[in-house]
Amino acid sequence: TIYGSKYSVKPRDKLLGGLLTADFDEGSCLSRYDQSMRKPSPYKPSGYLISKLRSYEMLHKRCGPGTDAYKRATEQLGHSDENHVRSSGDECRYVVWMPMFGLGNRILSLTSVFLYALLTERVMLVDQRNDITDLFCEPFPGTSWLLPLDFPLTDQLDSYNRKHSHCYGTMLKNHAINSTTIPSHLYLDIFHDSRDQDKMFFCEGDQAIIGKVPWLVAKSNLYFVPSLWMIPSFQTQLLKLFPQKDTAFHHLSRYLFHPTNQVWDMVTRSYNAYLSRADEILGIQVRVFSRPAGYFQHVMDQILSCTQRETLLPELVSPESQVTNTSRSPKLKAVLVTSLHPEYSDTLKNMFWERPTSTGEIIEVYQPSGERIQQTESKLHDQKALAEIYLLSLTDKLVTSTRSTFGYVAQGIGGLKPWILYEPRNNKAPDPPCVKAMSMEPCFLRAPLHGCQAKTIKITPFVKYCEDWFSGLKIV
Ligand code: GDP
Repeated sequence: TIYGSKYSVKPRDKLLGGLLTADFDEGSCLSRYDQSMRKPSPYKPSGYLISKLRSYEMLHKRCGPGTDAYKRATEQLGHSDENHVRSSGDECRYVVWMPMFGLGNRILSLTSVFLYALLTERVMLVDQRNDITDLFCEPFPGTSWLLPLDFPLTDQLDSYNRKHSHCYGTMLKNHAINSTTIPSHLYLDIFHDSRDQDKMFFCEGDQAIIGKVPWLVAKSNLYFVPSLWMIPSFQTQLLKLFPQKDTAFHHLSRYLFHPTNQVWDMVTRSYNAYLSRADEILGIQVRVFSRPAGYFQHVMDQILSCTQRETLLPELVSPESQVTNTSRSPKLKAVLVTSLHPEYSDTLKNMFWERPTSTGEIIEVYQPSGERIQQTESKLHDQKALAEIYLLSLTDKLVTSTRSTFGYVAQGIGGLKPWILYEPRNNKAPDPPCVKAMSMEPCFLRAPLHGCQAKTIKITPFVKYCEDWFSGLKIV
């Protein structure tokens, strides 16, 4: 890339400490090995994670689309009478991921499903019928993660829901599944409002049964990794995979997600035009969940009070009281604002244009897009959203919004502990306006707290209630 030259003296660790395989052709997906815009991550992947990923890649090659193993596994699905699944041990098992909700939600559930696949030695395939191929390159070398369009259950995928006879929770309710009656496929429902039966997925005993089912189809809008940590047999493996427990999403997301050239071009153009020359970059992600959403003075007040209190932005002084700045090259701070609403960055921009700063710093405010309305599954809209998530991940310091998965993804990829803006109540800026996150991990916004994991949650020191959502759990 054009920016490569800036760092040509000291070549970047393009494989991220062994996290990535060198088996890809560089040009087909520029983002994969391009670390030129990013500071090197202080977090190194463990040797066990690296070897697990390499064996996963081999498994995916052996079982992926187009292989004999895949053919055999799909033929087994064709049988309508199913209660006779033979598990011969060496057959491949799969988990199919379906995209649900916004881009942040999708990236979080996809990462969770991938970690589940790693832990249980399943092959993960993704539904390709909407825009995943416009967003991400293939992550696994010499094979494909796309679920073939002629997959036998393709026509049924959209109709899977809680009422479906193959839904795990429903099968439990109907006593239709146990260790001797194993179906050829199961639908897993892991949403914010899933039933207690569906959340039994996170119980050790249930995993023993689910583990025997050749095909799983998962729909989720959540980062459910914290509850995988609470399954005792998984925890043993996870401790080896991630000795630094709060790095799971950071490593997995950097392994799995490589924006397509189209998206990466957008990231690079913005970065070079607005961010690369700054001495420091501050990211501010403004997500307004109130209805109607839009520009609110109390949200603007909250952003200012957070950024000034935490000295992320300098105070403004009156033009007369400006101390003559003797420094010839005052510091340039770039502020990258992302929001559906353009007014927040407009206001900031005006403020820093009209009045000088107490520190003499120059503040440059930039917002790449202001789409106003969420348009999930519109190609260019999603591409812009992804580009903005990556731009946020390139900042030095980050402010995010309560319970926004968009922000969670940016902080995790960037390895940043953000300041989280609390959710405003009664149209007032909360006091305090924001809180520094305990870790860079995303929050499992609706973790099962009272089921089989209740005790483990209480005694595990590295799982905590989220800063921004009292019923959520996160790894710290
Ligand atoms: P969440 O709803 O904040 O948890 O995040 P999601 O990413 O799951 O869903 C929000 C969707 O709204 C995104 O995927 C985008 O389509 C859109 N969106 C929200 N905030 C932004 C933003 O700052 N920039 C852009 N481009 N799109 C946004």
